[in-house]
Amino acid sequence: MLSETLHNALNDQMNFEFYSAHTYLAMAAYCTSENYDGFANFFLVQAEEERFHAMKFYNFINDLGYRATIQGFESPENNFSSVLEAFKAALLHEKEVTRRIYELSDIALDEREHATMAFLKWFIDEQVEEESTLDTIIHKFKRIENDSNAIFMLDAELATRTFTAPE
Ligand code: MG
Repeated sequence: MLSETLHNALNDQMNFEFYSAHTYLAMAAYCTSENYDGFANFFLVQAEEERFHAMKFYNFINDLGYRATIQGFESPENNFSSVLEAFKAALLHEKEVTRRIYELSDIALDEREHATMAFLKWFIDEQVEEESTLDTIIHKFKRIENDSNAIFMLDAELATRTFTAPE
């Protein structure tokens, strides 16, 4: 049984995950415009992951017998001064997602809503992974600085990322 507060909070997070997909799609478009197909691929896969996250919330809300409400959102950032700036913005975005997931978990915990607590555990673990992946890429960028060969290699490395729906 979900309280109205928790139902709304789960719905908001579902919509924020859809917004995250939009955010990463804008980053992919920027990288493509800079001819970095590998970095663009990274963000396209990221966008797919976010849609998967959103649909987990969508299905969870439905499974509990409630209704998911799809909302609109403001335009994501489309302009970046460099690919590194896009990755830094992505990390900041994920830190905001983590903050929201924790806030949502606090509500579930306060209400002793164990099904929601169990559901959110997956997202708590996922956020550790998300932040770590982006942090690693940002560190690689900082190490290679303006070495164009190394940037080419990193772009090629990220071109191999594919989306596989987690368990
Ligand atoms: Mg997400």
